[in-house]
Amino acid sequence: MEILRTLPKIDQFIQNDQFKGYSKKLILELSKEVISQTRVAIIEGTKKSFNQEDLVSQVCTRYQTLTTSSLQTVINATGVIIHTNLGRSLIDPEVIYRVKEIVSQYNNLEYDLALGKRGERYTHVSQLLQKITGAEDALIVNNNASAVFLILNTFAKDREVIVSRGELVEIGGSFRIPEVMHQSGAKLKEIGTTNKTHPKDYTNAITDKSSMLMKVHKSNYNIEGFSSDVDISEVIKIAREHNIIDYYDMGSGHLVDLPYGLDQTEPSLIQIMKHNPSLISFSGDKLLGSVQAGIIVGKKALIEKLKQNQLLRMLRVDKITLCILEENLKSLLLGEIEKIPTLKMLFEDITQLQDRAKALEIRLHENITTKILKSETMIGGGTTPNKKIPTVVMQLSFNKLKPSQIEKQLRARNLIGRIENDMFVLDFRTIQNRDIGIIAEILKEISHV
Ligand SMILES: *Cc1c(COP(=O)(O)O)cnc(C)c1O
Repeated sequence: MEILRTLPKIDQFIQNDQFKGYSKKLILELSKEVISQTRVAIIEGTKKSFNQEDLVSQVCTRYQTLTTSSLQTVINATGVIIHTNLGRSLIDPEVIYRVKEIVSQYNNLEYDLALGKRGERYTHVSQLLQKITGAEDALIVNNNASAVFLILNTFAKDREVIVSRGELVEIGGSFRIPEVMHQSGAKLKEIGTTNKTHPKDYTNAITDKSSMLMKVHKSNYNIEGFSSDVDISEVIKIAREHNIIDYYDMGSGHLVDLPYGLDQTEPSLIQIMKHNPSLISFSGDKLLGSVQAGIIVGKKALIEKLKQNQLLRMLRVDKITLCILEENLKSLLLGEIEKIPTLKMLFEDITQLQDRAKALEIRLHENITTKILKSETMIGGGTTPNKKIPTVVMQLSFNKLKPSQIEKQLRARNLIGRIENDMFVLDFRTIQNRDIGIIAEILKEISHV
């Protein structure tokens, strides 16, 4: 086949001007790949001709795909503060500065500077957690799912765990309480019904095979109407009376009292701690507003047992996690909520959101039709199921585009909004001040001003 002989020679091909400044080694590898695939395509007859330019541009495209970061920043204009798909909680850049110092230098991660010998990695945050929550001790693992697993495996392997049927939930990402329990080696003992569980259901279920009473935050659903469950304070009391462990998988784990009346249905960790629980676990990156982690607080003797479980080694957290957590916990201790973006966004009042919306509106060209409205959004992350919080949105329309078309075009520029009442909207509950200029630019670009 004559055409095969015209395929470029690799040595000459990689000299192409378009590859200037690129890694020679990677260009060589990709060029070989592209040329050999072209050869195969010609032999198999799927390709009749080629041109040099085309091959060069194929190599360039592959180079770009491999070398640009896959993880990218996006603007969250969905209004959902703890958006699991968009990275959950934001970390203040000041905190990242501390992380930079710690990870780029040696540090005392597991070294006791006072004694000059091996220390424990959890001490960096456990004291802060004790101070903030009043718990006797604390432990950090990779995420709350690990915390649940570690606790069940440590205290309930081959023994029974009593859980209300209304709390056998599935949390996003196929985390199902019955399955996690099975994997941990614990035996599930279901009590009550889907809509109702009473204190006596717990009491009646306790036998010498029982290891603990477990309560699970319902996270992403709630039951309206004829329903009742047993308060965590009551579960703690029953467990104490029967001398077994109580454990609350609190999920979202908020330390500060929530605004918008959300506290009526959701006691804070501080309020629950007053009842002297055995163990509570929650996520680091939900309502605590910190990094991905599972935080366990409770009785010292029990935390000690958890530390002795070999599993802990597999679930242990890195210094980056501990560093971020330490900074955020310090802010919580000092009441500096403005340094924790998740909480800052949650507490911002409507007028601040309106101001931000207006700041964007005045930067937009008149061919974009806008309308600023009060609306409602959700905290997200399975924190306060079906509870709405107030927000401000901006309806956008231009170029006679359908809302779904606007959504798609903006998403292509990493700006994620939502469709509400058949209109595309940007929600200012999650839009940051620094986003305003960028959003204005994107809108200018796609509305062809
Ligand atoms: C979110 C959640 C989990 C899982 O926590 P991760 O930190 O995401 O692993 C477990 N239990 C409950 C009740 C939750 O809300």
